[in-house]
Amino acid sequence: MDFGNLTIKKAQEAIKKREFSVWEMVNFFLGKIEEKNKDIKAYLEVFNDVEDQAKRIDKKIANGDAGNLAGIPVAIKDNILIKGKIASASSKILENYKAVYDATVIKKIRNAGAVFLGRTNMDEFAMGSSTENSVFGPTKNPHDLERVPGGSSGGSAAAVAMGGALSALGSDTGGSIRQPASFCGVVGLKPTYGAVSRYGLIAMASSLDQIGPITKTVEDAEIVFNVIKGQDEMDSTSVDTHQSSIVDYKKLRVGVLKYDRSGVDDEINKTLDESVEKLRSIGHDIMEIDPPNLEYSLPCYYIIMPAEVSANLARFDGIRYGLSKQGKNLLEDYMETRAQGFGKEVKRRILLGTYVLSAGYYDAYYGKAQKVRNLIKKDFEKDFKKVDAIILPTSPTVAFKIGEKTEKPLQMYLSDIFTVSANLAGVPALSLPTGKNKEKLPVGVQLIAPWFKEDILFNLGKKIQS
Ligand code: GLN
Repeated sequence: MDFGNLTIKKAQEAIKKREFSVWEMVNFFLGKIEEKNKDIKAYLEVFNDVEDQAKRIDKKIANGDAGNLAGIPVAIKDNILIKGKIASASSKILENYKAVYDATVIKKIRNAGAVFLGRTNMDEFAMGSSTENSVFGPTKNPHDLERVPGGSSGGSAAAVAMGGALSALGSDTGGSIRQPASFCGVVGLKPTYGAVSRYGLIAMASSLDQIGPITKTVEDAEIVFNVIKGQDEMDSTSVDTHQSSIVDYKKLRVGVLKYDRSGVDDEINKTLDESVEKLRSIGHDIMEIDPPNLEYSLPCYYIIMPAEVSANLARFDGIRYGLSKQGKNLLEDYMETRAQGFGKEVKRRILLGTYVLSAGYYDAYYGKAQKVRNLIKKDFEKDFKKVDAIILPTSPTVAFKIGEKTEKPLQMYLSDIFTVSANLAGVPALSLPTGKNKEKLPVGVQLIAPWFKEDILFNLGKKIQS
């Protein structure tokens, strides 16, 4: 059996037919991790109960009560809580923090029979686009060890790309699932805001965060999404996502985003054109769209996101949980803990966020950014009267070299230019691989659909991938 070519879909079928046991399959993945992780560093920890988990599922299968993800080996980004396991968000401040409850997504995939292999590396508190902001050191891109895997869910994308899991969960606040998926040649889905519960996700910017799957195929992303989606009483922003879209999948209207092509790698422009031609040739209507306010997405994101970051991270004070440093009084306790516990990028964003929220600047920055965010949402509303989906690049470049942008935060922020608008508007977006460039690095495209129309993303994504 060639476990290396497995997808979730194929594994489901093989397990149903009892072609191999869960433990045989999972053991193969443990072997792959053993072989590759020392160089790639996708995983921060491989759990010591994997064999127990696998054998428990094998028993369940024998009793005929296995779920939809029975035996599927998954990796979990280190900001999603699994009861009893460390959840560090790749930060010193939470280095030894053990989760005291399960995130809703964890409960759901555990009930579906998945096996948790371990937790994956990330940019500290999900702030970054390269996984270099992890306090535990960077993850390497499996396609070229001198390059970054993208971020912040770089460990999750690399785990799937190196053959060390069939799926991984990531979180996406401004592109952190899609951009690493694109850099590593795998599929990444950011669901509609509210489609998946955020309960048990270490919050970065609560009005933008969503949890989603990273997989090898679009079909697999759909399988995992269907398991994790749905309303949750523990997250008041989550909603029921029953499918009501009556669309003719054979003749969808696809809008091609107008963008400055000179700022994007040639091969990424080319792969986008080829994907568009493919969709046109099978009967879809293609038109250009040019939403007027989209160009303000990046500055808008880099005001709203740090504002929410500064509020969310106020809870890490050395008193409640995590690192605790003593000063001469309570204020010094806070200051020492936070000075030693947070890394450079996290501090930069807390400072930026505190500034844009401060009296006297609130209206000029935060208030204005909220208004612009509304305009961006309206642009999407307008465009989605004309088209059923939008196609655009995921990232302006392929994976860049480790160290290339670490001293240039603005350059790093620019790699989010095509991903942040979906988070600001709350719409679902999918990144999928379309091939490789001359240097054998993965290239990909991104699709965006109207709120709660993930089905359109899966439909078009499968057609581009076929
Ligand atoms: N790269 C973006 C940032 O640094 C997005 C991060 C994310 O989606 N978590 O903010």
